[in-house]
Amino acid sequence: MSIAHIARPGIRAMKPYAAAEQIQETVRLNANEAPWHSPLDNFRRPLNRYPEIRPTAVRGALAGHYGVDVSQLAVTRGSSEAIDLLIRIFCREGQDNIVTIVPGFSMYRHYALVQGADVREVRSDPDENFAVAASDVLAACDQNSRIVFLCSPNNPTGTILSQETLVAILDARMNTSAVVLDEAYIEFSGEHSAIRLLEEYPNLIVLRTLSKAFAAAGARCGVALGDRAIIDMLDAVQAPYAIATPVVEWVEDALQADALAEAATHVAGICAERERLLGRLQQFAFIEHIWPSAANFLLVRLCNVQDVLTQSREDRVLLRHFGGELNNCLRITVGSREENERLLQSFARVGG
Ligand SMILES: *Cc1c(COP(=O)(O)O)cnc(C)c1O
Repeated sequence: MSIAHIARPGIRAMKPYAAAEQIQETVRLNANEAPWHSPLDNFRRPLNRYPEIRPTAVRGALAGHYGVDVSQLAVTRGSSEAIDLLIRIFCREGQDNIVTIVPGFSMYRHYALVQGADVREVRSDPDENFAVAASDVLAACDQNSRIVFLCSPNNPTGTILSQETLVAILDARMNTSAVVLDEAYIEFSGEHSAIRLLEEYPNLIVLRTLSKAFAAAGARCGVALGDRAIIDMLDAVQAPYAIATPVVEWVEDALQADALAEAATHVAGICAERERLLGRLQQFAFIEHIWPSAANFLLVRLCNVQDVLTQSREDRVLLRHFGGELNNCLRITVGSREENERLLQSFARVGG
């Protein structure tokens, strides 16, 4: 059974925005567009015209890439937009809540706060490699828990969520919560995507992005994959013309076989660098712990975070410090070999 019934009642009734018609080979005087081309307009589609309301060709190509039917996929401005839209679809202000794992990606909380939804946090234990226990997640849920946000590999810990845990949560919340699995980093993990569980679990929504493994963070393109009823609601809520013409054309090119093969080579290179960097980092006495990571970053615990941050900043290398319970930790993105060498040289200069 679809979980559309747990969406906000007003959203369920919504129809997609009725935009100006777009018909080939017509004189278009219905959308207040300019009739001339800017000298900078060198795209395959005319930039003076609005893009399609929803990018049909790219949506089809992405559906092919992820192995789903087009009716199961929405193209969004990064997966961040999908997070925002899903929370707006499912959560009533002041009544509903989302459940998230900490440490985790802060966008889920951010958009929940925008919507006025409550955030219930489930701790994962650093001493257990941040493994998520289904029982803890389920204990945090109540009848107003509209979305459970999971992330695998998890940011910022790099942890894989076991399929067993995912399925236990999906089963227990079958008709009561949407379960969003954010797979932003899955290409770096060698793990199977949960996309193949979509047929069995209408409450599952999988998020993928072109920001990481496709090297296209600047393009702002992601997808939400799920039950058709949920995709239809995303369609109804998302801004018309959300995906800009230059992005549409870039994604079309990025999904060609040669571009996909090249991206896969880069991803394999980053995974190899991750393991090399891990080995080199272990040699620094001030690094106390490095968690195993299936993503394109490493979470490390240090005994002198501030000294390391000061030195690396002086050497013009930026690292991510989160504070809170990860106050002694840094998240290090795996860069190119040269960039990683810059990091290691900076670490070698840390005094003490
Ligand atoms: C980077 C990242 C994303 C991707 O966000 P985009 O909006 O697609 O760039 C999504 N989820 C997590 C956990 C991330 O770390």
